Amino acid sequence: MSVRVADPSIELIARAAAECQDLATLGSIVRGCEACPELAISRTTVVVGDLPPTPQLLVVGEAPGANEDLAGRPFIGKGGQLLDELMSQAGLDRGRVAVLNVLKCRPPANRTPTTAEARRCSGWLDRQVELLDPPFVLTLGRTALTWALGAKVTLDAARGVEHNWRRRRLVVSYHPSAAIRFGPSGAPRKALEADLHFLAELLR
Ligand code: SF4
Repeated sequence: MSVRVADPSIELIARAAAECQDLATLGSIVRGCEACPELAISRTTVVVGDLPPTPQLLVVGEAPGANEDLAGRPFIGKGGQLLDELMSQAGLDRGRVAVLNVLKCRPPANRTPTTAEARRCSGWLDRQVELLDPPFVLTLGRTALTWALGAKVTLDAARGVEHNWRRRRLVVSYHPSAAIRFGPSGAPRKALEADLHFLAELLR
């Protein structure tokens, strides 16, 4: 018989996040978070996010990579550069886009976040979404999709349509790292391009 042990960090983070009345306060508290011991030891910085004042779109990815961990900013490596390029091609205004990750700390060797890590850090992310209040949200990759729509929904099933999500409009797509891995002619790159154009149409 297996016994499921509740993770008290999930509740503690959700409560601490709910008490934050603005993004700056939340950011300063997140920077001291050590709820995931392995990540807290190995990280260089806590990547709180790129948060312009009144974003029309929030992009949510998975976790910081090596470049992001060093610089303390999300999506600045190769994946971020590709995303910027494809957003520009689709006509999306990068200056009004907020960027966050499900995890604020880099997993060692860029491994996939564990379910426990994602559930803990989602408390911070959920409150950031409430405080930012963006009308549109774009999730990139499996981890962000699971955060938004749950683990049972597949990426291919959720793509290509607009979801009514927490009183916002949600579109899902592949992570730019998958687009890089499969190359410029691969299915993830084509899907990401198509989804960004779809999103740009919704925003017009
Ligand atoms: S990943 Fe999130 S929950 Fe885990 S230590 Fe970093 S900030 Fe805290």
